[in-house]
Amino acid sequence: SDKRLEELTVDTTTCGYCAVGCRFDVYSDGNEVLATRPANPEKTPVNGISTCVKGKFSYGFVNANDRLTKPLVRNENGEFRTASWDEAYERVVEGFEDITDNYGGEALSVIASSKATNEENYLMGKFARQVLGTNTVDNCNRLCHSSTVTGLAKTFGYGAASVSIEDLETTDCYLITGSNTTEAHPVIGTRIKQNVRDGSDLIVFDPREVPIAEYATQYTQVNPGYDAVWINGLIRHIIENDLHDEAFIEERATGFEDMKEAVQEFTPERVEEITGAPAAEIKAAAETIATADTCVFGWALGITEHSHGTENVTALANLAAITGNVGKRGAGVSPFRGQNNVQGGGGDMGPLPDNLPGYQKIENDDVRETFEDAWNCDISADRGYYTTEMFHAADAGELRGMYCIGENPALSEPGKGHGETVLENIDFLVVQDLFLNETAKYADVVLPACSFLEKEGTFTNTDRTVQKVNPVIESRGDSKPDWVILQDLANRLGREWDYENTAEIMEEIRQLTPIYGGITQERVEREGGIQWPCFNLDHPGTQRLYTEAFNTEDGNAHLKPIGYSEPMETPDDTYPLTLTTGRVLYQYHTGTMTHRDEGIMTYNSQNFVEINPETAANYDIADGDPVCIESRRGEITVPAQVTDRVGTDTVFVPMHFAENAVNELTDAERLDPEAKTPEFKVSAVCIRPVESS
Ligand code: SF4
Repeated sequence: SDKRLEELTVDTTTCGYCAVGCRFDVYSDGNEVLATRPANPEKTPVNGISTCVKGKFSYGFVNANDRLTKPLVRNENGEFRTASWDEAYERVVEGFEDITDNYGGEALSVIASSKATNEENYLMGKFARQVLGTNTVDNCNRLCHSSTVTGLAKTFGYGAASVSIEDLETTDCYLITGSNTTEAHPVIGTRIKQNVRDGSDLIVFDPREVPIAEYATQYTQVNPGYDAVWINGLIRHIIENDLHDEAFIEERATGFEDMKEAVQEFTPERVEEITGAPAAEIKAAAETIATADTCVFGWALGITEHSHGTENVTALANLAAITGNVGKRGAGVSPFRGQNNVQGGGGDMGPLPDNLPGYQKIENDDVRETFEDAWNCDISADRGYYTTEMFHAADAGELRGMYCIGENPALSEPGKGHGETVLENIDFLVVQDLFLNETAKYADVVLPACSFLEKEGTFTNTDRTVQKVNPVIESRGDSKPDWVILQDLANRLGREWDYENTAEIMEEIRQLTPIYGGITQERVEREGGIQWPCFNLDHPGTQRLYTEAFNTEDGNAHLKPIGYSEPMETPDDTYPLTLTTGRVLYQYHTGTMTHRDEGIMTYNSQNFVEINPETAANYDIADGDPVCIESRRGEITVPAQVTDRVGTDTVFVPMHFAENAVNELTDAERLDPEAKTPEFKVSAVCIRPVESS
């Protein structure tokens, strides 16, 4: 830029891409992000002096030509035209009131946004319950880590990482599974690589030889869909060889005998037969983990996006507990959360069908009473629909309207065709976003929102650190922060909201959410970040969970027996291969942000499929050839990347692209029975070469 340095403003904020939560100084002329630099390391416990390519450069989306700057409504021909905020609000009010009058508030739903701030997500939950009168409010966590939350809540108490970034830097051993850490959480990946260089062990179990596996001291390739089997195999081998931590189990856990009984069937030989992991590698990994002084168990969606994701997570919690690797420095469980604020906005703030803020259960009468008093409304004790159920409920005519904020379910939901049909048929759809994304195309009203660079609030990252978000540029056109739009709508729908700023919203959160009881924006700014639980203003926050007790009624870890399970769809003669999905470094989720960055798009601009060389040879497919991939739901054609990163029976397609989207192939029907997370990671498919034109 030809701007002189002294003409620029410098503000510190928190990254809006992934949940590592890097903080950096942003240099801007008020209009554009001109440069970023890691902030004062004293104030950035998470990233120190590091940032990744997305946090450093990927700001093209902010001033993209197609950024929404005015509200849109449909004209009489069904086409979008720009409208004033007044008119757009009126349309929304009419649409919501129409449904409430005819079908009741329960026929309305809200999809909240893990990209938005904690304060905004708190208001999204409040808006659903108080203003619309529905418990059907959910968010993208349903598609990713809700099985983590369910699995950890019932074993250890909190649906969150027990560790801090510091533990990730200092542990003696890692078991990382189902996580493409270096690409999806780059700065954490860097910390791990450094620690491995310094001598710690890194064990990676994954169907795909993801880049972090290059640094592993042991990489074991497994068939997708059988994670609880190999984890149980590790547990069995540890117990069989008396390598478990008896004192820890005795003092701090219940359920050991039942759990031990359940793992008996998972001999190393049987595990090898089912998962493809060599018996010797099962034994070696078990011994390394059990004899290390400390171990961190890190995972992401390769563990959770299954029809038995909750069981996978529960098995990992069992493994961590029986080796005594919880609640001490360098040890613990570390689900790597995806979106920048999915831990805070997507979970802690309670825009959830079954939880109020702070994971307080909706069925608990005392909890409901507290919120009914504070919000001056009735709250039903019956949970609402989860996101993955909303589309079926809409199909059945039970759900008539949707307010979708900062999400793109048309592309991100499994079974893309089904999702689109539902969105097309729903009576009334409001989309609030930065762009006319694939979902917005079906909307009745589109409301332009500000990006994280244009507003104030807080995000909570993957290690529970609440950090400040500050506006670094002016908002674009007439766009408004989500909290302002929610407040305007609440007031037009007969409520009296009068928040002057987001600090006031955090004050209300603090009063109603014990784990955020001591968190104010002023404190967060001053201290650089505070990790929850932080029960009062004098509480320093909690670096590491469970040092004294687990968050269960008796204070113990509750070990659970986990038996054999397999994917709901397995390969057969017609569909002989297993498709799995994931991410690449240069892209982010459905690409709403990264696809608008020219620099980023020079790296990975289109979809592809990874195929093992042996499999490719069998099908007469060469690198770069177009390949048709077909499942029971649909088919897509994408170029082949022939690589031994995947096994001979597996193919991999990333999740970021709208054209030939992988979710044409995934299935909306197969869900984890408890968490309702879809089985994105396993679909039976067949492939064939396509003549290039
Ligand atoms: Fe942003 Fe995540 Fe990259 Fe850090 S690692 S700069 S939080 S995308």
